[in-house]
Parts: sequence; C-alpha cells; structure tokens
Amino acid sequence: MTTATADLKKVTKKVPIIGMMDNVMEQFNSAADHINLHQSIRKILSITNNEILVNFPVKMDNGDVEIFTGYRVQHNNALGPYKGGLRYHPTVDIDAARALAMWMTWKTSLAGLPYGGGKGGIKIDPSKYSQSELERITRRFTFALADNIGPEHDIPAPDVNTNSQTMAWIADTYMSTRPPAERTANQHVVTGKPDASGGLEGRDRATGYGVYLSIKFWADKSNTSLDGKKFIVQGFGNVGYWAAHFLEKEGAKLVAVQDATGSIQNQNGISVEDLFKYSQINDGSIVNFPDSKTVDTKKFFTLDCDICIPAALGNQITKENAHQIKARLIAEGANGPTNVEGEKILLERGITIIPDILCNSGGVVGSYFEWLQNRNGEIWQLDEVMAKLDKKMKESFNKVFDYAINETVDLRTAAFCIAIQRIEKAYIQRGIFP
Ligand code: GLU
Repeated sequence: MTTATADLKKVTKKVPIIGMMDNVMEQFNSAADHINLHQSIRKILSITNNEILVNFPVKMDNGDVEIFTGYRVQHNNALGPYKGGLRYHPTVDIDAARALAMWMTWKTSLAGLPYGGGKGGIKIDPSKYSQSELERITRRFTFALADNIGPEHDIPAPDVNTNSQTMAWIADTYMSTRPPAERTANQHVVTGKPDASGGLEGRDRATGYGVYLSIKFWADKSNTSLDGKKFIVQGFGNVGYWAAHFLEKEGAKLVAVQDATGSIQNQNGISVEDLFKYSQINDGSIVNFPDSKTVDTKKFFTLDCDICIPAALGNQITKENAHQIKARLIAEGANGPTNVEGEKILLERGITIIPDILCNSGGVVGSYFEWLQNRNGEIWQLDEVMAKLDKKMKESFNKVFDYAINETVDLRTAAFCIAIQRIEKAYIQRGIFP
C-alpha cells in the first residue's frame, strides 16, 4: 500500500461508521489494497454521489395522516445508470442505504452490466399496513423521488419486503407523471414488474436460481455432487424459496429454515414445495410446519449441514456464531450477511464463502434482461431467459474463481478486485471533469 492510500484509509476510518457501512468499507479497502488502486479513484469510490432523503405524508385507511421517511442513495454511475432495489424494513436508514448502494456498484460491475449502483427504501414495517395503504405509500414515495429516478438514470427493483406489485405501482405512478407521449416509453424505470406490465418471465426466480447455480458451480469445481447434501436457508422469501427449489431438484436436502417468525428443522429433510404451500396459507410464516421441530433462533446457523444460505438480512454471521458453523460452504443470497469479523473466522476454518456480489447477482442480471426487453419492445421466453442467466452467472463465477486461484485470495476479495478494476478503467479512460 502506498503512503497516500494509507492516509486515505485513516481518513475514512476516522469517521465513526457502524454496521453494514463498516463492512462494505473494509471489504472495499482490502481489495483496493490488493490491486493498489489509484488513490484518486479510491477517494471517489469511498463516497456516494447522491443521497436523497424524502419525508412524505400519506393518508391512512382511518383518515389519519402519517409521515414516512424514504431514501435513495446513488453510489456511483461510472459504468451506467444507478441500479438497485428498494426495501421496506425498519432497519432502513441512510447508513444501510449507503452500504447497500455500494454493494450494488460492485455487483453490477462484476456482472459486466452497463450499470452503476444505488439502493433505497422506506423505514417501515410493511406488515403493519393494509394493501391499499402500502399502495398509497409506494405511489407517494415515487412521486417524492420524482426525477431522481428514471429509466436511463436510476432504475429501482424489488428488495426485502417489496415485490412485483410494488414495482407495478412505481412504474404506473412514474409513467403517469410524464408528458403523455413519453408515458409508455418509461416502463423500464423499474425492473421486477409483473408479467403483464413489462415484467420478465423468470425474474421472480432469477436471484434464487443464481444462488443455486453458484452452489452448483462450486460443487463442480470441488469435484463433488449436490445429491444428498444437507442445506439450511435463512429467509424463505423470493431468494430463499427459489434457491431451495432448485437445490432440491438436484437431490440436495433442506434440513432447516429460519424466517422472521421463527426457525424449524428436520434432519431427515423438509419438502420445499410443501413448506412453500404451508407458508402461503399461514400468512407467510413457516412456524409449526408439520413434521418439523422448532429451533432456538440463536442456534440456527450452528445446525448440522453442508451448505448454509443466508438469504435474509445483513450482519447475520458474526464472531458470535462463526466458530460454531458446521457448513463447509456459505452461499450469500442476502446482501452483507457475513460481517468482516465473522468472515475472518470462517476463512481461518477453511470454510468457503460465495460472496453476495457474485452469489445473488442473478437478480440484477435478470433486471438487466427486463430493462433490455422493455427498451427494445421485445418479449422474451422463459427458457431463453434462464439460458442467458446461466451463461452470465457461469462467466462471472469462473472469472472470480480463476482470479482467486491466481492471486491466492479468497472469493470475496477476488470478486471485489475484478469489480473495482472495471470501474477504475472507466475513470482512467475518461478522466475527471473538468
Ligand atoms: N435487490 C436486488 C439486489 O440486491 C436486485 C437489484 C436489481 O435488480 O436492481 O441485487
């Protein structure tokens, strides 16, 4: 590391940063050190371009007015429009949005997409609101964001607790506020829309499929089969469910699941489809699934298994539980599920981590296909989408795996180095205005 970069590291460290931001900065700085990133580019990438905070009023079903706080952080757009999800969760704040936006920058760069990184959301527990309240909250949030989003500027997508319905409301609100002749041409302001509203066949399963593919590629490289492998999943939403669905098809056995409502296990195997049907009729909860026993929430990650898939929130694998993890592979379906201290312990123990920016990138790759489909006025078929996704995930996986071997680094460092170098190249070619 040069003296200049050492100084910069000290500067970024002086600001008290907590939680996810601390993690992403540590990950970034250690990769930047490895590639000896030019200090000017390190400065640029250490900070977000724009941070939008909006407070907006919404009328509730009972006639009362509530004020909500929404965020959109645009980290970097050197490679193209900002891209990333909107989440509805009580943990959403400016710090979380910054960290998640940064991860999107690395993710889209690594995937070779023409996008930068952004993220946002509303600090809200959506389970406390009716569907019509959520619709008004979403539409009012979109209106408040106004021209800070746009199909060639910043393109949101689903994330924790948002889905295709949320995206349909955003698209409709955004399009309604455009001049009449431009309305339908703005459909690709968001991705992850429902099928009849410009959505992509297969976008629903794209993230989970990508998680499964990453695990499959790892198994192939390790000369092992997934048949009979035991896996546990934290989060049984879109990502966790689809990853489990594809793994089960490959002969792997789901032995434990945790969601926001509780944890269950059965070492003889849990049927993914039965659990999915059960959760559908049980308000989305997996608790009390027949033929399973309840597990202490704190013990979840220490359960016996070969593969562990954290597919919920950040900071789940930490120094508190990393020593007791039995899995040999962690496949990060969520963003930032393993913190830096947890990761250090896992790596010392010889456990492989397929990092989030690679493992869950199937989602944003699917988003890119949807965006292209809308932009070109096309409608793609499911088999075509899945084949393209397969190809893209394989390219990224091989790139990261080869880099890690050649440079003797872990997979996360490899993924970050590749991602940062692509952005570095763009800055070197274009220079800094003026
Ligand atoms: N929210 C997803 C992610 O974290 C998808 C983002 C997108 O498709 O833009 O990668």
